[in-house]
Amino acid sequence: MVITLRDDVTPDQRRAVEARLRAAGFQLVAAPDTAPVVLAAVGEGTMPSLADIRALPGVAAAAHIPEPFKLASRSFRQRSSIVTVGGVAFGGDDVVLMAGPCTIESEEQLVRTAQSVRAAGGRVMRGGAFKPRTSPYSFQGLGEEGLKLLRRVADAHGLLVISEIMDRSQIAMMAPYVDIFQVGARNMQNFSLLRDLGTVDRAVLVKRGLSATVDEWLMAAEYVMSGGNDRVLVCERGIRAYETYTRNTLDLNAVAVAKAISHLPVIVDPSHAAGVRDKVVPLARAAVAAGADGLLIEVHYDPERAICDGPQSLYPEQFTALAEQLRLIAAAVGRSL
Ligand code: PEP
Ligand code: MN
Repeated sequence: MVITLRDDVTPDQRRAVEARLRAAGFQLVAAPDTAPVVLAAVGEGTMPSLADIRALPGVAAAAHIPEPFKLASRSFRQRSSIVTVGGVAFGGDDVVLMAGPCTIESEEQLVRTAQSVRAAGGRVMRGGAFKPRTSPYSFQGLGEEGLKLLRRVADAHGLLVISEIMDRSQIAMMAPYVDIFQVGARNMQNFSLLRDLGTVDRAVLVKRGLSATVDEWLMAAEYVMSGGNDRVLVCERGIRAYETYTRNTLDLNAVAVAKAISHLPVIVDPSHAAGVRDKVVPLARAAVAAGADGLLIEVHYDPERAICDGPQSLYPEQFTALAEQLRLIAAAVGRSL
């Protein structure tokens, strides 16, 4: 239920409304920076009738939240949220570029890639230290040593860091190195991980599972938010379909739908959607036109020699040219980049 309090609600009246809902088994969450105050009542209790809540002194309006996700819904927070990470705002006017290699390989790789990410206007450097590989015999990532390198190189280039976390046991070790925890498509329903990320002081990017519906994807975001962390970004990265020319199929429907039913910033990863370099460019352009708040793109200074996802990694020059085009597209849809 979403409850809007009156402008002139007294502290005692607000306490009484909250006490009534808590007694019914609900947790109360206030939307940030709204006047009048808007509260969501979430939990497993027995919902009092809307009429009962509307009749309480100090209540202006009460309504059910029809979506299964509550805190992530626009029914609760009508304005698009701006998630700020180290001075970079996701969900505002700027479309944010995040880029870098699939996996961290070496200092030289990171330095050469970071230079081009920064020069093209990127704000966040990506790089996996723990890789969810389909085969247990494929390279699994450099682990903490890789994160150290990524943090150092990103700092030296004025970039933030995003990196994938695979298990809740990695949270404490990774936290000092990352600004944004990435939850990968294969871990979208790792509920114990999502729950624990709800209690950390870091932004979390939740990728859509390979065959997850939009509701299931937003429910993963809800898990993080229900723990108290509302700095959540959701990322469309292509879903599994019957087409074989591309690795996955970028679902731009989901971008438009998620923007409409959720207030969270929506990011698009065209690299894993396409799986082939020359398709990443048009998909990135389309994503910005469709309203994406940011892009997560694989870039490698020498993709022929990349350990992981080389065929879909852009050459630095390609990334620079793409960023120029994205600037024009962003302007055409009232954004900047
Ligand atoms: C990645 O970002 O390198 C990755 C493994 O992505 P996804 O979880 O979308 O497959
Ligand atoms: Mn990859």
